[in-house]
Amino acid sequence: MRRYFGRAVHGGTAAGPVFVVKKESREIVYARAEDFQAQIARVQRAVGQSREELKALSHRALHRAGEDGAAIFAAHEMILEDEEYLETIYGMIRREKVAAEYAVAVTAQELAGRFERMEDECIRARAADVRDVSGQVLRNLAGNPGCGLRLAEPAVIVAQDLTPGETMQMEREKILALVTVQGSPNSHTSILARMMDIPAVVGVPVELEHIRSGMRAVVDGTGAEVTFEPDEDLWEAAERSMARERDEKRLLQSLRGEESVTRSGRKVQICANIGGLADVKGALENDAEGIGLFRSECLYLGRAGFPPEEEQFQVYRQALEAMGEKKVVIRTLDIGADKTEDYFRLETEANPALGYRGIRICLKRPDIFKTQLRALLRASVYGKLSVLYPMITSVKEMERIYEIVDEVKKELSKERIPFRLPRQGIMIETPAAVMISHRLAQMADFFSIGTNDLTQYTLAVDRQNGQLEEFYDPRHEAVLCLIRIAVENAHKYGKRAGICGELAADLELTESLLEMGVDELSVPPAMVLPLRRRVREI
Ligand code: PEP
Ligand code: MG
Repeated sequence: MRRYFGRAVHGGTAAGPVFVVKKESREIVYARAEDFQAQIARVQRAVGQSREELKALSHRALHRAGEDGAAIFAAHEMILEDEEYLETIYGMIRREKVAAEYAVAVTAQELAGRFERMEDECIRARAADVRDVSGQVLRNLAGNPGCGLRLAEPAVIVAQDLTPGETMQMEREKILALVTVQGSPNSHTSILARMMDIPAVVGVPVELEHIRSGMRAVVDGTGAEVTFEPDEDLWEAAERSMARERDEKRLLQSLRGEESVTRSGRKVQICANIGGLADVKGALENDAEGIGLFRSECLYLGRAGFPPEEEQFQVYRQALEAMGEKKVVIRTLDIGADKTEDYFRLETEANPALGYRGIRICLKRPDIFKTQLRALLRASVYGKLSVLYPMITSVKEMERIYEIVDEVKKELSKERIPFRLPRQGIMIETPAAVMISHRLAQMADFFSIGTNDLTQYTLAVDRQNGQLEEFYDPRHEAVLCLIRIAVENAHKYGKRAGICGELAADLELTESLLEMGVDELSVPPAMVLPLRRRVREI
């Protein structure tokens, strides 16, 4: 029995087999191999395996995101059928007597480089496809299929670290718990774990070489404790905890349909934060009064290229239709810092949290922004949509956003495409936005306070940095002061103000937040009913 303590991300107990995620190295290591036939056979096997995976992914994408989503994987499959691509690899192995890995990596690099130098935007975009597909072949050559693609049974996922993209690719039903050696409880991967209600622990000081896929583990998300090869007593104790947790969830179900109202009659709207269509079910099951934050960037993660307008439209429309009369707040693309993919081609920055991210990317790349706005305005016809703009720091940014929205409206009218202008809200997640909240309140329909970033920028603490955790305090007086100011200024102009950062789920603060006048709390789906219970006790 080996026991480790890390940092708690999301509570709950899990017990089951381990699946160790090993990532391929990005470095190309030269290795000779005399037996070229054996190396070619290895490539053939890995290519075959990758094609199978792509077929499965394409099938899943068709369900989740429609035909456009599936087309991306079909395009990847075509690369694996491409004679030139395969012959270049085989030729190199034969001629230069090199290992399969080296030939695949060099071919990918050269081919992607050639595509990148082309004039045509579409051909340039193929470079990312080639890299992605070759990465998949390399993973299979190393005997480590892509995350979540080939999990035969539900497992405790153990990794050095996981990006939000990798987490998004996993099948929720197959994940018992997430355990990472690195990471911070405030990162987006951790936020995703909470949104998906997966017990999770980060900063677990385990050496991955000593962990094998298939060995048993028990995870206590609340106590941030992970035990590999547990003895029978611990295993049975974990089973009892899981049964208790199931009972507790059943008990909470009695609050479905009840009002979120204090004993003195103060009402608050409790909504759910989601990352994609798959989470809408959880929001409904937990009786959320709406979607308070749909992190639309999740749609852009875990894939090789931008989601086209039609695919986005279908996703937004389906979310709106599923929620019926209830509101859905979709935040526009908030990419950058820890949330990114190769195809965005973001340069490495010294201070990514203070860098090229969020609305800044959308304002500098109106092509990307307009595609999303078109999809949103079109989907707005199908339900109660609001859009939310992230990372705002100035009035000028809002003016520019409204200009772009106007251009999109004109384009859609000209093309005679039906649309409706949704309500438009501003995320208050920088101290600058709070200080000018009296002006922003006159420009927006509502505020949504993002306490995760507000804490980061107010306290000057990088939320990604696990070492600074003791300094990252969303309950800090300064953060609470800023929330109070933003709410007061919203109310001065007759606008509503909610909180969608993780602080909204802090049950010890619920009473203070209500006392400040907060109108809405948006939390991970699994927290909706516990929060309702807390409100009803106040
Ligand atoms: C926030 O910053 O509080 C927020 C809700 O946005 P994200 O966590 O996605 O940055
Ligand atoms: Mg934020």
